[in-house]
Amino acid sequence: MFKKKKQNPGGSYVGAIAVFILAIIIGLVSFFVTAQRTIESSSQERMRNNVARQSEHLRTILNIHYSYLEGIAEKMGESGDLLSEENMQMLTTFQESTALDRTALIQPNGDAHYDNGLVKNVAHRRYFKEGISGSRTLSDPLESSVDQETKVVLGVPVFHEETVIGVLGSSYNVGELSRMLFDDLFSGKGYSLIVTRDGEIIAHDGDATDYKLSYGDNIFEFYKFKKIGQGHSIEEISQDFNEGKEGLIRLRGYADSSDRYLAYAPLGINDWMICYVAPVTVAQQSYAFVEQYEFIFLGCFGVQVCILIFYIIRKNRQKTEEILRSARTDELTQVYNRKYAESYTERILNENHGERQSAFFIMDVDKFKEVNDVYGHTVGDAVLHTFGELLNRQFRENDIVGRIGGDEFTVLMWNVSSREAVRSKAEKLLEETKKLAFAEMDGKGITISIGIALYPEHGNTYMELYRIADQALYETKRGGRNGYTICGESRRNLPR
Ligand code: GH3
Ligand code: MG
Repeated sequence: MFKKKKQNPGGSYVGAIAVFILAIIIGLVSFFVTAQRTIESSSQERMRNNVARQSEHLRTILNIHYSYLEGIAEKMGESGDLLSEENMQMLTTFQESTALDRTALIQPNGDAHYDNGLVKNVAHRRYFKEGISGSRTLSDPLESSVDQETKVVLGVPVFHEETVIGVLGSSYNVGELSRMLFDDLFSGKGYSLIVTRDGEIIAHDGDATDYKLSYGDNIFEFYKFKKIGQGHSIEEISQDFNEGKEGLIRLRGYADSSDRYLAYAPLGINDWMICYVAPVTVAQQSYAFVEQYEFIFLGCFGVQVCILIFYIIRKNRQKTEEILRSARTDELTQVYNRKYAESYTERILNENHGERQSAFFIMDVDKFKEVNDVYGHTVGDAVLHTFGELLNRQFRENDIVGRIGGDEFTVLMWNVSSREAVRSKAEKLLEETKKLAFAEMDGKGITISIGIALYPEHGNTYMELYRIADQALYETKRGGRNGYTICGESRRNLPR
């Protein structure tokens, strides 16, 4: 057997909206994730650039110093006598006129002759070995026994006719190195470090409130207690330092719950690394406007989606109501059709259980056939339409007015107080109907006949009431029309 499928008109649009919202959510999430990734990679790029700039800056300054030292070393090498009076005099003048601290001329055996007259053997020092082998050199920080300060030594070889006859060394206080770093990026909220490949800090500059590091500390020891994001580990960073590779990591576990970026790059002169650390929020600060736009966009979009959904639901409800209304309304007279009037009346009676008195009216237009015959069907339709309007006007909202066919109408007059009220309503109806005058019928009107059954007195169901009221209607017609009969009573006309 063929079975009709049950239709759910609301289901299709709810499904469509759900798919639409899901698509929007997926779109928004992808957009936000992409935007966040772009912000993240751009801010990391700025961190890397900054550390590369610091490294270049430091290299440039040190190269200037090297060139300066090499210029002097060239002069000192001209005579071939490294410790000539002229050279020693030049050493003193040179120390007094530059930012460099102590200067010394170192003989090939490692004896260093300082500008202040002291002599000390430095043959074991790496910087001496590199310098005497003919290259520029930069030492790790040394505790100077000459000045009792921590220094780094810059050294260049002194050549005489292409042979190295000694080394010209000059020392910096490590504080001088710190001044070469800069922290102008991100309004000084980060800090810079120069560290050895083993992680030992040589110099630092920047926002000291963020870290408790100072000269001589080891950053690997310090960062060991921080979590490192993006799958990196402190061992990998240590390996990068050893290989002189640049990189960037994200450090977690700070008290203010903001992560930090640590970017590092090799100095490129020796094995030192330049590090720059800044809070992620600060590094991403300049992109905060994107986040604001995201929220504004999300807000506007959310409102628009809500309006759209609200509009669709409203439209759909209106449509459904319209369909329902037309399914239960008689098109010509705009009262309920037979099927709905019957089921609605039945439902109300069932719910009431005979508690409230009601009256069931059947009305039939008198000699309506003649109207059709004399004035035509169209005029007959107009008469029925006008009569339907009159019924809708005469009865309350709770009363059930229906057309059961042809010129026959029913009304369940709901919750009436007495027979008297029923009588006066019937009389009012007869009166008002009589008042109707149709221009198409040469100003003539119509009359109606009414049969009335009382609930629960004459019956409890629609059919019982219908049968009784129909008999009463028959009585009215039989008695000469234009009147009403309540079941069990005699027919009545309008009182004159
Ligand atoms: P009575 O006083 O005994 O009721 O006489 P009557 O002429 O009104 O007879 P009856 O009520 O049986 O006739 C109803 C007529 O209504 C019959 C039919 O031609 C006409 N009719 C039924 N439906 C329509 C309609 O939709 N439009 C019009 N114009 N006429 C209709
Ligand atoms: Mg009739």
